[in-house]
Amino acid sequence: MKIGVLALQGDFDAHRRRLEELGAEVVLVKKPEQLDEIDGLVIPGGESGTFLKLLGEGGFEKLKQFVHVKPTFGTCAGAILLANEVENPKQSGLCAIDIRIRRNAYGRQIDSSIREGRFGKEPLEMVFIRAPKIERVGPDVDVIATEGMGNDPVAVRQGRVMAATFHPELSDDTRIHQSFLDLVRNGS
Ligand code: GLN
Repeated sequence: MKIGVLALQGDFDAHRRRLEELGAEVVLVKKPEQLDEIDGLVIPGGESGTFLKLLGEGGFEKLKQFVHVKPTFGTCAGAILLANEVENPKQSGLCAIDIRIRRNAYGRQIDSSIREGRFGKEPLEMVFIRAPKIERVGPDVDVIATEGMGNDPVAVRQGRVMAATFHPELSDDTRIHQSFLDLVRNGS
């Protein structure tokens, strides 16, 4: 099982280390044709607008085809890229998961913080860095992790696609990456 990590920009190396620690063979994806070699893909955090620029039109189209067929997990900027609808400002999405997501939604005061949320019913440390907020969750989307008094959705899944607004690669807890590897392995 080969897992790609999109390595154009952002914190791809932390994902690589985590996935290798869990026994996956990792490919750092820098060229669109490398998508043909992998069974699943992680799109890391970074700056989603910069990802779009670096991908270019051809890369974006190839990635769009991939995420509609193969398991993909996006964190933070990666979650923004996967969304159907992006706000603040509006920007193209890969339309792989039926959510509306608002970039840089927490304002200056708490733009980056470590908070405790819930993964299912279990507590989970969550690192937020200039995080987006999931403002709408479509009917076919499962909320797999929440945070805050209002139980805001911070990790979601629709079929083979997972997205998290926090950075599980920066905490010691391996459960989120493990659940993505299970998804790639079993399709569930
Ligand atoms: N603020 C970034 C964006 O809008 C995401 C931040 C991150 O990935 N840590 O793309």
